[in-house]
Amino acid sequence: MSFLLTRSSNKTPGLPPPTAAATAYRHTADLLRPKWVFYAIVAYIGLAMIVRFFSAASAFLRLRRLRAATPASEDGAVTRNNKVALRRLPAAGVTAFRSVAYRWKVPLGDWHHMNGLTFFTAVAYMVVLFSFSFTNAAHNDPNLWSNRVSHVASLQWTFVIALSGKNNIISLLTGISYEKLNIMHRIAARSVMVVAWAHGFGRIRIRLVGPDSMKEVHHLLGLVSGIAYLFVFFLSLRPVRKWAYDFFLPTHIVLVLLTIISAYYHSFNFKYYMWSAFVMWAFDRFCRTLHVAYNARVWRYLFLQKNNSTKAEAELFDDDAIRLTFHLPAPWRPGHHVYVTIPAVSRWPLEAHPFSIATHPREQQVNDGNGRRVVLVIRPQGGLTKRLADYLQIGVPRELTLLVDGPYGTPPSVLSYSTVILIAGGTGASYTLSYLLDVINNYKSNSCAARRVVYIWAVKARSNLGWYGGALETALNTAPAGLSIEAHIYVTQHDVDEKASEGSDGGHDAKGSTAPFQFTHGRPDVAKILTDEITSAREDISVGVSGPMEMAMLARKTMNNFGFGSVLRGTASVDAHFEMFTNT
Ligand SMILES: Cc1cc2nc3c(=O)[nH]c(=O)nc-3n(C[C@H](O)[C@H](O)[C@H](O)COP(=O)(O)OP(=O)(O)OC[C@H]3O[C@@H](n4cnc5c(N)ncnc54)[C@H](O)[C@@H]3O)c2cc1C
Repeated sequence: MSFLLTRSSNKTPGLPPPTAAATAYRHTADLLRPKWVFYAIVAYIGLAMIVRFFSAASAFLRLRRLRAATPASEDGAVTRNNKVALRRLPAAGVTAFRSVAYRWKVPLGDWHHMNGLTFFTAVAYMVVLFSFSFTNAAHNDPNLWSNRVSHVASLQWTFVIALSGKNNIISLLTGISYEKLNIMHRIAARSVMVVAWAHGFGRIRIRLVGPDSMKEVHHLLGLVSGIAYLFVFFLSLRPVRKWAYDFFLPTHIVLVLLTIISAYYHSFNFKYYMWSAFVMWAFDRFCRTLHVAYNARVWRYLFLQKNNSTKAEAELFDDDAIRLTFHLPAPWRPGHHVYVTIPAVSRWPLEAHPFSIATHPREQQVNDGNGRRVVLVIRPQGGLTKRLADYLQIGVPRELTLLVDGPYGTPPSVLSYSTVILIAGGTGASYTLSYLLDVINNYKSNSCAARRVVYIWAVKARSNLGWYGGALETALNTAPAGLSIEAHIYVTQHDVDEKASEGSDGGHDAKGSTAPFQFTHGRPDVAKILTDEITSAREDISVGVSGPMEMAMLARKTMNNFGFGSVLRGTASVDAHFEMFTNT
């Protein structure tokens, strides 16, 4: 504080000197406003925790109610009188919230998709950040706000860094997955950059402390921090992340460290504002190291001198997919994914890529100490996955050493819904297959409310079914009789030997034997499938989609046709979750 009083010039050139009251308020605001912004965010996180609590409680009550309902009471066609029923108001309200918060896409152009809730959160964040930073300064005098904004920015880094981590406290508290928080990480980081640079411009406007001030090390460090921050901004724009992810990630980590460490030494009295940012970063790195060590069974090496690495069997299919099979000691849930590093083809030790787990943790009754079987199916792209495909030979399994970090994600449970609809395209089936297995397993142990499952999978060729080694067929063949499962495989590009038979045919898998699903040539009519299911369901529905963007957009659009008014008149309320295989 003494530094601020002695080193700051009292008068901004070209502006009248601030009044004594304004100067006095400035010192109070320098101290309090950064904290107010912080408290506002903590309050918002608290609100998200309350929403999480109520949604978990409602899922629990729904599960209990539906499990208690006798199957007989669910028989028969659904008849609706189409009249408004006020007792449906809570369900209709939840539907309206979901429509606006999760399914409404803010039109920001083709290059960006943001749902209503993220948009609202982003706008609210900017309003709070900028208003607490810049308001209440007479004549917009930088003398009154230039130090304050730097304190606001310093304290914000705690959130910015927390929002970036795979293991972060906000995700733990709110149940929001780190991938979704990552969007807020970018928005917050860019807003804070504006505030941090405002500090720089403000100080320049006040003329810093004297003509030689730029020779002072701490001012130079401020400049280094600001320039590094600008580089962080430009090198993290979407095209860079999309087309050069391997370049983006290491440069991002180095530049962010440079930004924060130089800001730390630039700052005088408020260094402690930045400690928590370092703690957040260290927490994430510590958890990730722990995950990798645990999954590699390091204790076996340390105490038993046994080989500790994770060995995977890798297989390349002629239809351009790779299957990795290995054992994972860490527990996981359907919908989870893991980050995999493959030393044989990774370019640098931290090059880890996310893939969804297609197997169910209860597939193996006993965990023999090596963990449970995990299958990942990978569609080669242009980087690590292509190098992996080049490393393998079609049809010749090869053993690979892996480092596995995870599992990650906060996938929702579908067990409390009476109808579960799962729609996938290509390798998106890893995500939906794990949910199908979850429903079947839990139905057997009477811990699930689902009575009906609709499983839709669009593949390019029938041979794609081989990716999961018959897991889908086995699951459907062993499904309990009381659970109605409709499985449709849509083949979008014909194999040579399939061209003869057009239209829909039932029941032959890739090897030609009888299969428990229906084959149809062409794309699934997602809108019709969803409309039919929603209008004929008695109870709330869960819809899970994992596939191309167009598939998800169509599903969202269809679900939005059954909004507030429709649910009030008796239509089932729909809860949807999407895995788009992208967090960039
Ligand atoms: C939660 C999640 C689950 C996924 N599950 C699967 C799956 O089961 N099967 C599957 O085939 N694919 C899955 N993906 C996509 C898969 O991670 C990418 O295709 C893969 O990382 C591309 O690697 P590459 O170096 O060959 O890609 P590149 O050709 O370098 O890039 C292709 C695309 O992948 C993105 N990408 C590259 N590296 C990463 C990374 N480390 N993290 C996130 N995105 C990256 C790029 O931004 C680009 O958009 C999943 C992605 C996510 C986010």
